[in-house]
Amino acid sequence: MKTTHGTNAHGGDVRLTGLGKTYGAFTAVHPLDLTVPEGSFFALLGASGCGKTTTLRMIAGLEEPTSGTVHLGDQDVTGLPPYKRPVNTVFQSYALFPHLDVFENVAFGLRRRGIRNVKKQVGEMLELVQLGEQARKKPHRLSGGQQQRVAVARALINHPKVLLLDEPLGALDLKLRRRMQLELKRIQTEVGITFVHVTHDQEEAMTMADTVAVMNGGRVEQLGPPTELYENPRTTFVADFLGTSNFIEADVDTRSGDDLVLRAGGGKLVLPSARNSGPTAAGGKVLLGVRPEKISLVHADDAGRIPEGRNRITGRISDSSYLGVSTQFVVDSPVCTAFEVYVQNIDRDPRLVPGTEVVLHWNPAHTFGLDAAQSPPAGTVDPAGGETAAEEAA
Ligand code: ATP
Repeated sequence: MKTTHGTNAHGGDVRLTGLGKTYGAFTAVHPLDLTVPEGSFFALLGASGCGKTTTLRMIAGLEEPTSGTVHLGDQDVTGLPPYKRPVNTVFQSYALFPHLDVFENVAFGLRRRGIRNVKKQVGEMLELVQLGEQARKKPHRLSGGQQQRVAVARALINHPKVLLLDEPLGALDLKLRRRMQLELKRIQTEVGITFVHVTHDQEEAMTMADTVAVMNGGRVEQLGPPTELYENPRTTFVADFLGTSNFIEADVDTRSGDDLVLRAGGGKLVLPSARNSGPTAAGGKVLLGVRPEKISLVHADDAGRIPEGRNRITGRISDSSYLGVSTQFVVDSPVCTAFEVYVQNIDRDPRLVPGTEVVLHWNPAHTFGLDAAQSPPAGTVDPAGGETAAEEAA
């Protein structure tokens, strides 16, 4: 990601330096260094209790950091109260004024600053959030999504350099949530200011953000564009938090050009070196990962038809679920129990039922490698707020 230094900073850059927060003996946010470049859509993603809201609140000035600084552009705002920072926050509970109509809710910030002729600005803002027709309605006559858009308009009318969004779609049902995600992305692209968004919903973060920081136990585990995090996770936590991963424990055998050749259960598997964050020396223990949708599954009788150069393992189907778009198979193999494989329902092979011997194969380019010593396969993470390292530590 782009970094900025000193006087070259843009006004809408958010720069956190050693920013940390402790509550007594408990560390909610370990000292954090990161820069969110001006104009980007940045998501802090993690399970409940990982420290994402505390981080956002420190940027807003609603929480005092225990260590470190917050810069907006070149300005050190660490000591400034919230209302003196060029930021605005949209919360999950949008708290519109019930007695004011949509127009007046949006106009409120301008009127408070003594601006009398607000019609043009409010009109433009309502067009931006596509509520021009609803201007004279009171909030209770709007849908949840419309109310949330009023909250966004109300925040944007003050021309903040940075808009902070704290689980803003949390109160909406799933369909509306998905619509509003695209809507927020459109609004961000149109206004071009920096958005910092907090969510526990990986799909939400991936839909909207240019850059996602995955937080766990008060630390950023990995930061990057959504595709990079999904395709090349660096920890088992990230690999499990964003989608599902299968893991095989393997030993480094040898190097072959740009690849590492690994041994697992008597077979060999290829891992491109560039996709490996584990050990590289012979004998090193690597946790080899592959996503369920990257894998093809064939009946053992058809193994001869698998093209050369694919990673392959044998196993037996233990379960299958037809989900319309895809069939999800669970395969037990000598190298991994409960391997998950998603196969699109295009040409279904009726022989692929539980108990059948199969061969799984995939392009080595879709394999990623982790350090097995540092990354024991994590349990499934409950993004809605299951146990987290932070909670355990607490
Ligand atoms: P959620 O999605 O549930 O809001 P989060 O990832 O945003 O979770 P934070 O709200 O940042 O998490 O909280 C991080 C940790 O700090 C949690 O373990 C929480 O219990 C703890 N914490 C937050 N505020 C306080 C406080 N005022 N006093 C003590 N501990 C706190």
